[in-house]
Amino acid sequence: MTQQLVFKGLGPAGALLAIRAAQRGFHITAYDPAFDVHSSTPFPGTYGVFSTQIPSWADHLFAAPESLEVVAGNPLNRRTLGFSYRMLDQAAVVKALRAAHVRIEAKPLPEGTSAVDCTGAPRTDTALWQLAVGWFLPLTDAPSESTPTFMDWTGTATQAGDCPPSFCYIQRTDEGWLFEETILAAHCSAVAVKQEEVFEVLRARLADRIGTQTVLREERVAIPMGTRRRHNERKFGAAAGFINPATGYSLGHAMESADDFLDGKRAGGWLAYVLRQVGGELIARADGATLQDFFGHFFALDSRAQLAYLSGRDGLAVARTMWALRKGTGLRHEFLRPLFRRPWSVGRAVWQRLFSARP
Ligand SMILES: Cc1cc2nc3c(=O)[nH]c(=O)nc-3n(C[C@H](O)[C@H](O)[C@H](O)COP(=O)(O)OP(=O)(O)OC[C@H]3O[C@@H](n4cnc5c(N)ncnc54)[C@H](O)[C@@H]3O)c2cc1C
Repeated sequence: MTQQLVFKGLGPAGALLAIRAAQRGFHITAYDPAFDVHSSTPFPGTYGVFSTQIPSWADHLFAAPESLEVVAGNPLNRRTLGFSYRMLDQAAVVKALRAAHVRIEAKPLPEGTSAVDCTGAPRTDTALWQLAVGWFLPLTDAPSESTPTFMDWTGTATQAGDCPPSFCYIQRTDEGWLFEETILAAHCSAVAVKQEEVFEVLRARLADRIGTQTVLREERVAIPMGTRRRHNERKFGAAAGFINPATGYSLGHAMESADDFLDGKRAGGWLAYVLRQVGGELIARADGATLQDFFGHFFALDSRAQLAYLSGRDGLAVARTMWALRKGTGLRHEFLRPLFRRPWSVGRAVWQRLFSARP
């Protein structure tokens, strides 16, 4: 007998789960009032994942792998990462949803229907926020040294004002070069209440970085990180706390977890989740010079250790990466100071994030 699954919400994580579920013989109906069934790009962002996170069943949903650079450290150092990166092809996702006969209802879930909750991350005062402003530039018109870059911390140490520090993410997309000035993680009090002002600062920083350019389109990013919905219904994607506070990403995690979810296995990864919350809290407390230097140490680790922190659900592997990092940074690094100077404050912030998300 064919099994039925109903989804509440169909963002990119829900769509990936729907495609996998259909491949495994489930019949899917998804309710999402915001889903544009006529669009070939129904999701609002440009989404990348590390190639290592893409299972074979999802291979056709992503563009070809790109290698990525990172610029970090004190002094600044440019490296090529030991893993590649792939962009979600939204048109391929839409095609796969159609081919899988996923029924999409652009309306609310009918009252009383039980469903998998894929409604995204809850927004709470305790969330860490990733905020970014991205500009798409014509492929022919971008700065000549453009190369896909995961994080470029150039200039972060000297950023002025009380806006949290930001780096630049650079990616080649179908729409052109994307340059995105990104605050990796900040407390709600620092950004959420004055989001428009923060976006203005990010625009100014971006203009400083790349000069005056023809901007084809602007993308604004505001991701609440580290929160999950707390009701007992089954949840998946950002609603289930998949967003990694070290990157703002969750789609790799969604693909890694899809089969377990469909098999009814418990999500696991609790230790990894908590450790990354601590990491996210320390990022939100650090200034630009500290982050620039800290990420220099992080990207000097071997690729396996980097990936264990940036992806995956293995808590011990996350802990091993953290332990390995201290060899480079030493225990007195400014980044780690809050752990020793204000351990209760860090602990309380993490605790509140873990337990305070509303349904
Ligand atoms: C611009 C941008 C760029 C990003 N880049 C990346 C990236 O490169 N890599 C990455 O992994 N992540 C990226 N992210 C992070 C991204 O937010 C999450 O990883 C991803 O969107 C999570 O998908 P989701 O489907 O769980 O939730 P969401 O994308 O938040 O989707 C939730 C869906 O549920 C619907 N919904 C909400 N409430 C209801 C309701 N009551 N009933 C029915 N439907 C409802 C919404 O309309 C929405 O379509 C980016 C985010 C943004 C905004």
